[in-house]
Order: sequence, then C-alpha cells, then structure tokens
Amino acid sequence: MNNLNRRRFMQMAAGLGLASAISNQQAMAKSNSTKIGVALLGLGGYSRGLLAPALELTQHCELRGIITGSPEKIPEWQQRYGIQDKNVYSYQNMHELANNPDIDVVYVVVPTSLHLQYCEIAANAGKHVWCEKPMAMSTAQCQRIIDVCQQNKVKLSIGYRMQHEPNTQRFMQYRTTQPYGKIQHIIAQAGYGGNGLPASNWRMQKAMGGGAMYDMGVYPLNGVRYMTGLEPIAVTARHDKSHPDIFKEVDETTYFDLEFANGLIAECGTSMVKSFSQLTMQCEKGWYQLRPMSNYTGVTGYTSDKQEFAAIKQIQQAIQMDNDALALQGQGQLLVPGEEGLKDIHVVQAIFESAAKNKRILL
Ligand code: NDP
Repeated sequence: MNNLNRRRFMQMAAGLGLASAISNQQAMAKSNSTKIGVALLGLGGYSRGLLAPALELTQHCELRGIITGSPEKIPEWQQRYGIQDKNVYSYQNMHELANNPDIDVVYVVVPTSLHLQYCEIAANAGKHVWCEKPMAMSTAQCQRIIDVCQQNKVKLSIGYRMQHEPNTQRFMQYRTTQPYGKIQHIIAQAGYGGNGLPASNWRMQKAMGGGAMYDMGVYPLNGVRYMTGLEPIAVTARHDKSHPDIFKEVDETTYFDLEFANGLIAECGTSMVKSFSQLTMQCEKGWYQLRPMSNYTGVTGYTSDKQEFAAIKQIQQAIQMDNDALALQGQGQLLVPGEEGLKDIHVVQAIFESAAKNKRILL
C-alpha cells in the first residue's frame, strides 16, 4: 500500500473525531528505547484486556505499534499507549513494517484461522513473530509458519503463557526430580462455564477455529506434555453436547485420553460450558496439582504432603513477553518455539478424528 493509502487509513481514524493526541515526549521516549518494540495485530478482547496492559508492566519490551482492521479503534489506542502515527497499520499495508525499525515483533492475536496469513506477512517483513495459541488450524499451517520464519531468519514463539508461569514451572521440574516418584496417572481439564456465545462470534464458527478443543483444549493437552516431557502415542476422544441447538458447528465439550509409551494415561477434558480447571499428577508416593491450571490469575500449586504454592502476584503475560523479549536479545532460549504449537495441533487433529470415528487413533 502506498503513502496515500496509509494517509487515508489514518484520516479515517482521525475523522472519527478522536484524533491522536499523544505527547511528543511519550513518542520520543519509545523510539529511543533499547527495549524490544512490539506491534499487536488484532485489537480484540485479549489484546485490549490483557496484552496491552501487561506490556506496560514489562521491562524488556514495549507496545510501539498496532495493526488493525478497525480504524475506529486507533485513536483510543494511540492516546492510551502513546503510539505514533507511523507505527499504525492495517492488515493491507502491514507489509510496510519492513521499513519500520521501531517494530521488532508482531504479536498475532486474531482468530485462529487467520494466524498463518498474518504470521506469514510479518515474517516476510523481517519481523519476529509471537503467535497466539492455538498455533493454527492444521499441522500443515503450523509447519508453514515455522518454515516462513526460518526462511526470513526471524524467531517464532507461541503464546502459551502457562509455560512461563512460576508455579507451573516449579511442577514442570518435578518430571526430572520426581519428589513423589514416577507419575502414574494425570487428570487435566480446562473449560469455562456458560451457555455458549452468539453464532456471530468466531469461537462458535468451525472455519474460524472455534470450539472448545482449539480454544481451551490445548491447555490440558500442552499441560500434560510439559508435565511429563513426553509425547503421547495414541488418543481416544469423544464429544459431549448439552446445548446442541447452540453448538451447531463446533465442539462444546470434548474428553480425550492420551496414552504414553510407558503406559501412563492422561484423562483430559475441555469445555465451553463446563467450568473446570486442574492439572493433577498422581504419582507413586503422592500427588501434586495446579488448580486452576490455565486461568489468568490464581494458579495455585498443591501437594499431597500439604504444601501450597500461592498464586503469583505478577501478571503472567508480562512474564511471558519479557522472557520472549530477553530471548530475542540473546539472553536465554525461547521457551515455547513454533514446534510446541505444531505438536499440539498434531494431537488435536487426532482427537477430532478419534471422536468422529469413535476409535482409538495412533499418533
Ligand atoms: P476477539 O474476538 O476478542 O478479537 C479478535 C480480533 O481479531 C478482533 O477484534 C479484530 O481486531 C481481529 N480480527 C481480524 N479479522 C477478524 C475476523 N475475521 N473476525 C474476528 N476478528 C477479526 O478474540 P480474542 O482476542 O479473544 O482472541 C484472539 C486470539 O488470541 C485467538 O487466537 C485466541 O485463541 C487467543 N487468545 C489467547 C489467550 C491466552 O490466554 N493466551 C486468551 C484469549 C485469546 P481488529 O478490529 O483490531 O482488526
């Protein structure tokens, strides 16, 4: 898109009567900072409610740009976060990011079916990519995202915030230290209560990547994988619907058992109408549990010998983005590279196949 079109896009935003009023001081401070410059792509609920506020708390990165299809959102975001005109993009002109040194990372926070498309444009513009979970609709799409990032020599990280959460990390270490002996059985559940969403919401639309398994099911799935450090060898799944008139296209509740080569079984569940959240490891000599296991706050660790690890006070998303920013600055490894997202989608596909065919699927 040329300059005229870019100007028109900004004029549309200003024409809504909320022209940007960021202070020069605010803008200059951001341009001169050595922090990693982040542009949020898609200014929906998660960007607005969680990521943008968390970016204000980070030490190693900051919100410098926005990419949106909604011009009416621009003035408020510019004002609230001191974002300069030159760092505001539409989905049509975002390839021009290639000429913008202020932006190091594009954080893709749109419906799942759109992740590939925008990760690709961001990587081709030479920007590192942070991609929200679930990574994409299929393993082919996930692989394409990995490939395009490699080709452009940019880093790719998936927004699995739980892998950055300290209580979760503490229990992840137990797979090596085994303070309660070997894990013998796992229960992993993540779901939110309610009666579904309007049909117009992308989470209720199959083609957009809606449904419980893609939205919430990746938490227990990823959780079992990071708690064991193992990959499942088979899966048996089934769907359950208490509101078939509302959940016409997508899965409402899905149960899946993951089998591992050592005989371990993880009993997993996810739902858009049932509220449950736990990751419980039953071991030879006791148990340990995260409850809730995937909520934004309150993730608490419990053990059979009555230890309790209180929920952290920090914001999970700020820890996640700081860790990822440090890795981009050469300090440490990315904790959740693209391959992590791909491995989950491989299992997600098998879960749908298992439920559809009513049979155990080998992975
Ligand atoms: P929302 O529906 O609230 O927002 C999505 C935004 O994407 C829209 O506001 C819009 O932003 C943009 N968009 C672009 N094209 C479309 C389209 N065709 N239909 C709908 N929206 C479109 O979704 P969320 O913010 O809740 O979720 C976005 C992503 O973040 C998903 O992948 C989700 O799984 C993930 N997520 C992750 C969470 C986590 O804890 N890690 C929590 C919540 C979500 P604009 O108007 O600016 O173009």
